[in-house]
Amino acid sequence: MNIAQSLQRAQTLGLARIDAQLLHLTALGRDPHDRAWLLAHDSDALPEDVAQRLDDWLRRRLAGEPIAYITGFKAFFGLNLQVDERVLDPRPDTEILVEWALELLPPNTPHRVLDLGTGSGAVALALQHQRPACAVTAVDASADALAVASANAQRLQLPVQCVQSHWMDELPGPFELIVSNPPYVADGDPHLSALTHEPLSALTSGADGLDDIRLIIAQAPSRLCHGGWLLLEHGWDQAPAVQALLREAGFVQVQSRRDLGGIERCTGGFSESEG
Ligand code: GLN
Repeated sequence: MNIAQSLQRAQTLGLARIDAQLLHLTALGRDPHDRAWLLAHDSDALPEDVAQRLDDWLRRRLAGEPIAYITGFKAFFGLNLQVDERVLDPRPDTEILVEWALELLPPNTPHRVLDLGTGSGAVALALQHQRPACAVTAVDASADALAVASANAQRLQLPVQCVQSHWMDELPGPFELIVSNPPYVADGDPHLSALTHEPLSALTSGADGLDDIRLIIAQAPSRLCHGGWLLLEHGWDQAPAVQALLREAGFVQVQSRRDLGGIERCTGGFSESEG
Protein backbone atom coordinates (compact mmCIF):
# COMPACT_ATOMS: atom_id res chain seq x y z
CA MET A 1 0.00 0.00 0.00
CA ASN A 2 1.31 3.48 -0.80
CA ILE A 3 0.85 6.64 1.27
CA ALA A 4 -2.08 7.98 -0.77
CA GLN A 5 -3.95 4.67 -0.48
CA SER A 6 -3.29 4.45 3.25
CA LEU A 7 -4.55 8.02 3.80
CA GLN A 8 -7.65 7.22 1.76
CA ARG A 9 -8.26 4.04 3.77
CA ALA A 10 -8.03 5.95 7.06
CA GLN A 11 -10.63 8.44 5.85
CA THR A 12 -12.91 5.71 4.56
CA LEU A 13 -12.79 4.15 8.04
CA GLY A 14 -14.01 7.47 9.46
CA LEU A 15 -10.94 9.55 10.34
CA ALA A 16 -10.91 13.28 9.63
CA ARG A 17 -8.44 14.08 6.83
CA ILE A 18 -6.31 16.29 9.13
CA ASP A 19 -6.12 13.52 11.75
CA ALA A 20 -5.16 10.93 9.14
CA GLN A 21 -2.41 13.22 7.84
CA LEU A 22 -1.07 13.91 11.33
CA LEU A 23 -0.95 10.22 12.24
CA HIS A 24 0.78 9.32 8.97
CA LEU A 25 3.41 12.04 9.33
CA THR A 26 4.11 11.02 12.94
CA ALA A 27 4.27 7.29 12.10
CA LEU A 28 6.69 8.10 9.28
CA GLY A 29 8.89 10.15 11.63
CA ARG A 30 8.21 13.41 9.76
CA ASP A 31 7.34 16.84 11.15
CA PRO A 32 3.59 16.51 12.02
CA HIS A 33 2.84 19.82 10.27
CA ASP A 34 4.62 19.00 7.02
CA ARG A 35 1.55 18.12 4.98
CA ALA A 36 3.35 19.19 1.79
CA TRP A 37 5.73 16.28 2.34
CA LEU A 38 2.82 13.82 2.31
CA LEU A 39 1.54 15.19 -0.99
CA ALA A 40 5.00 15.02 -2.54
CA HIS A 41 5.39 11.38 -1.40
CA ASP A 42 1.93 10.18 -2.44
CA SER A 43 3.17 7.14 -4.27
CA ASP A 44 5.89 6.03 -1.82
CA ALA A 45 5.30 2.55 -0.45
CA LEU A 46 4.43 2.44 3.24
CA PRO A 47 7.04 0.38 5.13
CA GLU A 48 5.53 -2.70 6.82
CA ASP A 49 6.36 -1.57 10.39
CA VAL A 50 4.80 1.85 9.75
CA ALA A 51 1.68 0.24 8.29
CA GLN A 52 1.32 -1.91 11.40
CA ARG A 53 1.79 1.05 13.75
CA LEU A 54 -0.82 2.99 11.77
CA ASP A 55 -3.29 0.10 12.03
CA ASP A 56 -2.98 0.24 15.81
CA TRP A 57 -3.25 4.04 15.90
CA LEU A 58 -6.27 4.01 13.61
CA ARG A 59 -8.04 1.56 15.88
CA ARG A 60 -7.32 3.77 18.90
CA ARG A 61 -8.48 6.94 17.16
CA LEU A 62 -11.69 5.28 16.01
CA ALA A 63 -12.31 4.28 19.66
CA GLY A 64 -12.27 7.99 20.54
CA GLU A 65 -8.76 8.40 21.93
CA PRO A 66 -7.45 11.95 21.45
CA ILE A 67 -4.83 12.26 18.68
CA ALA A 68 -2.48 13.89 21.21
CA TYR A 69 -2.38 10.74 23.37
CA ILE A 70 -1.66 8.58 20.32
CA THR A 71 1.20 10.71 18.99
CA GLY A 72 2.28 11.78 22.51
CA PHE A 73 2.46 15.45 21.51
CA LYS A 74 0.27 18.53 21.29
CA ALA A 75 1.12 21.98 19.95
CA PHE A 76 0.00 24.74 22.32
CA PHE A 77 0.83 28.43 21.95
CA GLY A 78 3.89 27.66 19.85
CA LEU A 79 5.22 24.98 22.22
CA ASN A 80 5.37 21.27 21.54
CA LEU A 81 4.03 19.60 24.70
CA GLN A 82 4.35 15.97 25.65
CA VAL A 83 0.93 14.67 26.76
CA ASP A 84 -0.63 11.36 27.75
CA GLU A 85 -3.68 10.03 29.56
CA ARG A 86 -2.44 11.43 32.90
CA VAL A 87 -3.44 14.95 31.80
CA LEU A 88 -6.18 16.77 29.90
CA ASP A 89 -5.53 17.13 26.17
CA PRO A 90 -4.80 20.90 25.87
CA ARG A 91 -7.55 22.68 23.87
CA PRO A 92 -6.94 25.54 21.41
CA ASP A 93 -9.67 27.50 23.28
CA THR A 94 -7.40 27.71 26.31
CA GLU A 95 -5.04 29.90 24.26
CA ILE A 96 -7.60 32.69 24.95
CA LEU A 97 -6.71 32.44 28.65
CA VAL A 98 -3.01 32.76 27.75
CA GLU A 99 -3.63 35.76 25.48
CA TRP A 100 -5.59 37.57 28.18
CA ALA A 101 -2.90 36.80 30.78
CA LEU A 102 -0.21 38.17 28.46
CA GLU A 103 -2.09 41.46 28.16
CA LEU A 104 -1.84 41.75 31.95
CA LEU A 105 1.87 40.90 32.07
CA PRO A 106 4.08 43.71 30.77
CA PRO A 107 7.31 42.40 29.18
CA ASN A 108 10.49 42.47 31.32
CA THR A 109 8.54 42.75 34.57
CA PRO A 110 9.16 40.11 37.25
CA HIS A 111 5.52 39.41 38.09
CA ARG A 112 4.67 36.35 40.13
CA VAL A 113 2.18 34.17 38.26
CA LEU A 114 0.27 31.12 39.47
CA ASP A 115 -1.33 28.50 37.19
CA LEU A 116 -3.81 26.30 39.06
CA GLY A 117 -4.56 22.79 37.80
CA THR A 118 -1.74 22.94 35.32
CA GLY A 119 -2.10 19.41 33.88
CA SER A 120 0.47 19.15 31.09
CA GLY A 121 1.77 22.58 32.13
CA ALA A 122 0.37 24.15 28.95
CA VAL A 123 -0.71 27.53 30.37
CA ALA A 124 2.22 27.96 32.79
CA LEU A 125 4.80 27.02 30.15
CA ALA A 126 3.28 29.26 27.48
CA LEU A 127 3.36 32.22 29.92
CA GLN A 128 6.93 31.50 31.03
CA HIS A 129 8.01 31.19 27.39
CA GLN A 130 6.42 34.53 26.47
CA ARG A 131 7.45 36.35 29.66
CA PRO A 132 10.90 35.08 30.72
CA ALA A 133 11.15 37.71 33.50
CA CYS A 134 8.10 36.29 35.33
CA ALA A 135 8.28 33.76 38.16
CA VAL A 136 5.67 31.20 37.13
CA THR A 137 4.41 28.56 39.57
CA ALA A 138 2.40 25.60 38.26
CA VAL A 139 0.14 23.70 40.67
CA ASP A 140 -1.71 20.44 40.40
CA ALA A 141 -3.27 18.16 43.01
CA SER A 142 -2.34 15.12 40.91
CA ALA A 143 1.25 13.86 41.28
CA ASP A 144 0.81 12.14 37.91
CA ALA A 145 -0.11 15.39 36.18
CA LEU A 146 2.72 17.23 37.87
CA ALA A 147 5.21 14.64 36.57
CA VAL A 148 4.04 15.46 33.02
CA ALA A 149 4.28 19.22 33.63
CA SER A 150 7.78 18.95 35.17
CA ALA A 151 9.00 16.79 32.29
CA ASN A 152 7.70 19.37 29.81
CA ALA A 153 9.34 22.22 31.73
CA GLN A 154 12.64 20.37 31.74
CA ARG A 155 12.52 19.39 28.08
CA LEU A 156 11.57 22.93 27.01
CA GLN A 157 14.08 24.42 29.46
CA LEU A 158 11.52 26.73 31.03
CA PRO A 159 12.06 27.52 34.74
CA VAL A 160 8.47 26.97 35.88
CA GLN A 161 8.23 25.84 39.49
CA CYS A 162 5.94 22.81 39.85
CA VAL A 163 4.18 22.36 43.21
CA GLN A 164 1.73 19.68 44.34
CA SER A 165 -1.17 21.33 46.12
CA HIS A 166 -4.93 21.25 46.33
CA TRP A 167 -5.59 24.64 44.73
CA MET A 168 -3.81 27.28 46.87
CA ASP A 169 -3.60 25.26 50.12
CA GLU A 170 0.23 25.09 49.92
CA LEU A 171 0.70 28.48 48.24
CA PRO A 172 0.68 31.52 50.52
CA GLY A 173 1.37 33.97 47.67
CA PRO A 174 1.37 36.80 46.97
CA PHE A 175 0.88 36.73 43.18
CA GLU A 176 0.24 39.49 40.68
CA LEU A 177 -1.75 37.08 38.50
CA ILE A 178 -3.58 33.79 39.06
CA VAL A 179 -4.88 31.82 36.07
CA SER A 180 -6.71 28.52 35.92
CA ASN A 181 -8.37 26.09 33.56
CA PRO A 182 -10.01 24.05 36.33
CA PRO A 183 -12.42 21.13 36.00
CA TYR A 184 -15.81 22.69 35.19
CA VAL A 185 -18.05 20.06 33.61
CA ALA A 186 -21.13 19.11 35.68
CA ASP A 187 -21.19 15.54 37.04
CA GLY A 188 -23.22 13.41 34.65
CA ASP A 189 -23.04 15.91 31.77
CA PRO A 190 -23.90 13.91 28.62
CA HIS A 191 -20.90 15.39 26.83
CA LEU A 192 -18.58 13.40 29.16
CA SER A 193 -19.30 10.27 27.13
CA ALA A 194 -17.08 11.71 24.39
CA LEU A 195 -14.25 12.39 26.88
CA THR A 196 -13.77 8.94 28.43
CA HIS A 197 -10.03 8.84 27.69
CA GLU A 198 -9.21 11.93 29.76
CA PRO A 199 -8.83 12.00 33.57
CA LEU A 200 -12.26 12.61 35.10
CA SER A 201 -10.64 14.57 37.95
CA ALA A 202 -9.53 17.16 35.38
CA LEU A 203 -13.02 17.47 33.91
CA THR A 204 -15.84 17.30 36.45
CA SER A 205 -16.62 19.49 39.43
CA GLY A 206 -19.87 18.80 41.26
CA ALA A 207 -23.54 19.06 40.33
CA ASP A 208 -23.22 22.37 38.45
CA GLY A 209 -19.54 22.07 37.49
CA LEU A 210 -18.65 25.08 39.65
CA ASP A 211 -17.37 23.47 42.87
CA ASP A 212 -13.67 24.02 42.09
CA ILE A 213 -14.25 27.51 40.68
CA ARG A 214 -15.99 28.41 43.97
CA LEU A 215 -12.99 27.14 45.96
CA ILE A 216 -10.51 29.05 43.79
CA ILE A 217 -12.52 32.28 44.03
CA ALA A 218 -12.73 31.88 47.83
CA GLN A 219 -8.95 31.45 48.18
CA ALA A 220 -7.74 33.95 45.58
CA PRO A 221 -8.24 37.32 47.37
CA SER A 222 -5.87 36.34 50.19
CA ARG A 223 -3.21 35.23 47.65
CA LEU A 224 -3.39 38.18 45.24
CA CYS A 225 -1.48 41.45 45.49
CA HIS A 226 -3.58 44.62 45.58
CA GLY A 227 -4.82 44.99 41.98
CA GLY A 228 -3.88 41.40 41.10
CA TRP A 229 -6.04 39.60 38.53
CA LEU A 230 -7.75 36.20 38.61
CA LEU A 231 -8.60 34.67 35.21
CA LEU A 232 -10.71 31.52 34.94
CA GLU A 233 -11.66 29.31 32.03
CA HIS A 234 -15.15 27.81 32.35
CA GLY A 235 -17.97 26.04 30.52
CA TRP A 236 -20.00 27.48 27.64
CA ASP A 237 -22.93 28.59 29.85
CA GLN A 238 -21.10 29.48 33.07
CA ALA A 239 -19.97 33.08 32.39
CA PRO A 240 -22.90 34.74 34.28
CA ALA A 241 -22.44 32.44 37.30
CA VAL A 242 -18.67 32.96 37.42
CA GLN A 243 -19.11 36.73 37.07
CA ALA A 244 -21.55 36.72 39.99
CA LEU A 245 -19.22 34.61 42.15
CA LEU A 246 -16.31 36.99 41.45
CA ARG A 247 -18.37 40.09 42.29
CA GLU A 248 -19.65 38.50 45.51
CA ALA A 249 -16.02 37.85 46.51
CA GLY A 250 -15.21 41.53 45.99
CA PHE A 251 -13.56 41.35 42.56
CA VAL A 252 -13.94 44.43 40.35
CA GLN A 253 -13.85 45.08 36.59
CA VAL A 254 -15.33 41.61 36.17
CA GLN A 255 -15.55 40.69 32.50
CA SER A 256 -15.61 37.70 30.12
CA ARG A 257 -13.78 36.83 26.90
CA ARG A 258 -14.99 34.73 23.97
CA ASP A 259 -13.25 31.66 22.59
CA LEU A 260 -12.61 30.79 18.93
CA GLY A 261 -16.20 29.56 18.65
CA GLY A 262 -17.63 32.87 19.93
CA ILE A 263 -18.53 31.41 23.35
CA GLU A 264 -17.80 33.32 26.57
CA ARG A 265 -15.08 30.98 27.81
CA CYS A 266 -12.97 32.97 30.30
CA THR A 267 -13.99 35.31 33.09
CA GLY A 268 -11.80 37.43 35.32
CA GLY A 269 -11.50 40.45 37.52
CA PHE A 270 -9.06 42.03 39.90
CA SER A 271 -8.88 42.11 43.63
CA GLU A 272 -8.64 45.31 45.62
CA SER A 273 -7.84 43.49 48.82
CA GLU A 274 -4.28 43.35 50.10
CA GLY A 275 -3.08 39.71 49.88
N1 GLN B 1 -13.10 22.27 27.66
C1 GLN B 1 -13.19 20.91 28.06
C2 GLN B 1 -14.38 20.27 27.41
O1 GLN B 1 -15.49 20.62 27.71
C3 GLN B 1 -13.27 20.74 29.56
C4 GLN B 1 -12.03 21.21 30.18
C5 GLN B 1 -12.16 21.43 31.64
O2 GLN B 1 -13.03 20.93 32.34
N2 GLN B 1 -11.28 22.24 32.11
O3 GLN B 1 -14.20 19.45 26.55
